[in-house]
Amino acid sequence: MLIKITTLPGDGIGPEVTEQAVHVLQTVAESFGHEIQVTEKNVGGAALVASNDPLPVDTIESCLASGAVLLGAVGGPAFDRYPANLRPEVGLLLLRKTLGVFANLRPAVCIPGLESLSPLRAEIVRGTDVMIVRELLGGVYFGERSTTGAAGSRRAVDSMAYSEPEIERIARIAFDLAAKRRKKTVSVDKANVLDSSRLWRDVVNRVAKDFPDIQLSHMYVDSAAMALVSRPADFDVILTENMFGDILSDQAGAVVGSLGLLPSASVGGKVGLFEPIHGSAPDIAGKGIANPLGAILSAAMLLRHSFSLEAEAAAIESAVKEVLAAGHRTRDLAAKGQPAVATREMGELVAARVRAAKSAPR
Ligand code: NAD
Repeated sequence: MLIKITTLPGDGIGPEVTEQAVHVLQTVAESFGHEIQVTEKNVGGAALVASNDPLPVDTIESCLASGAVLLGAVGGPAFDRYPANLRPEVGLLLLRKTLGVFANLRPAVCIPGLESLSPLRAEIVRGTDVMIVRELLGGVYFGERSTTGAAGSRRAVDSMAYSEPEIERIARIAFDLAAKRRKKTVSVDKANVLDSSRLWRDVVNRVAKDFPDIQLSHMYVDSAAMALVSRPADFDVILTENMFGDILSDQAGAVVGSLGLLPSASVGGKVGLFEPIHGSAPDIAGKGIANPLGAILSAAMLLRHSFSLEAEAAAIESAVKEVLAAGHRTRDLAAKGQPAVATREMGELVAARVRAAKSAPR
């Protein structure tokens, strides 16, 4: 198969972690006999510097002509002086909209042996493996907004709107994913207060009838937030709207306690977008010490969700688990006094495991 992708390394540690994700992708392609074609383009601050546009037209064209897009990170203090319409983040929001990716998938997994990264007690976080499915193009972030009145008596309004088709399409993605996992979905809303949530619950219940094997339950977002810290291992798939998903997915990331380890996928549109959840980490950029595993695991999601290459995706995920189980740690994961590996070394360790696993006799 031809794996044709566009990479958008972006800013800060983005280029460092993306380089290692591409290295692992190339290794997987070689090991499994696929052809890989990688085109690198600018986004965010890097694009502002190059062409005063956070999402240049040739970047959009390359993304739309690819099977998937792998992004590093955008932003940083160097770009604070740019006007609001020319910020690096604008490039990313516009890219998501252009690609039409309405479903954001954020797994949060507590990797065995790394329980101590969590701020929670090991017995609470152990076994956590949750997939948050967040609606990405609707709700309050895209609703009508206004600020009226004079200083001292101003009034601001943000509106949260959802239509039945918007809810139905994201619910189907969540149920499809749950069917390949532990077959449980919790739909999170605020149906005791919000009309948009009552419609959400109604449509989710209707769509669920097409998925009789999935065990569906509903939670209010406040209860879900509590349960996510008190019993995170109970969750399988969490389905929720844009703002609730934004908050709960960061909370789930904090529960497993490893920003540098977590991947994400945004799918459902023309071309999938895959990126680690962390930002550009300007405090460590250029030092070669960033953790590339979130980017590498995003590459695994890319193979699974955009190319249906399940064995190849699983090969990367197993390699990451093995490297961590063998005790290798980047600085963010290492205990005080424990030696740490550099970004490049971590990428090569994962690539070497992929190669070894594929060539090992079965
Ligand atoms: P951040 O995720 O960049 O960094 C938070 C902390 O985690 C820092 O101490 C950083 O060193 C550490 N960290 C993050 N990723 C790491 C990795 N892979 N390995 C080791 N340590 C890592 O968040 P921030 O500091 O709030 O934001 C910095 C910039 O990134 C801002 O401009 C922000 O707007 C941007 N940002 C971009 C994205 C994105 O591109 N999707 C997401 C979040 C933040």
